[in-house]
Amino acid sequence: MYFFIEDFSTLDMNQEEILQKARAMGVGGTKIINPKEVVVEEWVRLKCQYGCDAYGTRLTCPPYSPRPETTRNMLRFYSSALLMIFDLAVDENEKQRRKEIRKQIAEFERELFLSGHYKAFALVMGPCNFCVPCDITQPCKFQHLARPSMEACGIDVFRTVRKAGFDLEVAQTLDSPCRYCALILLD
Ligand code: SF4
Repeated sequence: MYFFIEDFSTLDMNQEEILQKARAMGVGGTKIINPKEVVVEEWVRLKCQYGCDAYGTRLTCPPYSPRPETTRNMLRFYSSALLMIFDLAVDENEKQRRKEIRKQIAEFERELFLSGHYKAFALVMGPCNFCVPCDITQPCKFQHLARPSMEACGIDVFRTVRKAGFDLEVAQTLDSPCRYCALILLD
């Protein structure tokens, strides 16, 4: 199999360049962390199953997303992870902004892949919203963009983000500002 590298200027992107590109995406906070600091726990999936109305309605959500034991095992094969935190205002543009962030992150994963980080894999936040509704009886329509959320894979996002030194609080009301978190696993 051959992969074509479109932009040779991005070859061998180092950690500082990766952080600079992340900042250019408008993140409120970003940091490269050790994948060992990513907290994966069984209870997270229960919160999807009992409490999230997206459960079973997206190909990127449980029960289709990787189980916590798979995530825990997968993390062992990575040496670093780019954590990104976006501050989102809750207004009429919020859904569109979430979609744009998902797209930006998937494209950044591809850019990192082409730059030589061939194991790059992105995890986002919340249910995929590229199609309404998601047809779970068919293969994904946007496989190059759709990525599972961290919580769908059993990651305790609150603890992981706080361990990295960032604030993350439960949004108390539907109109509270919220933070959108994403992780790109890297070799
Ligand atoms: S891109 Fe569409 S088909 Fe794929 S998981 Fe997202 S909503 Fe479902």
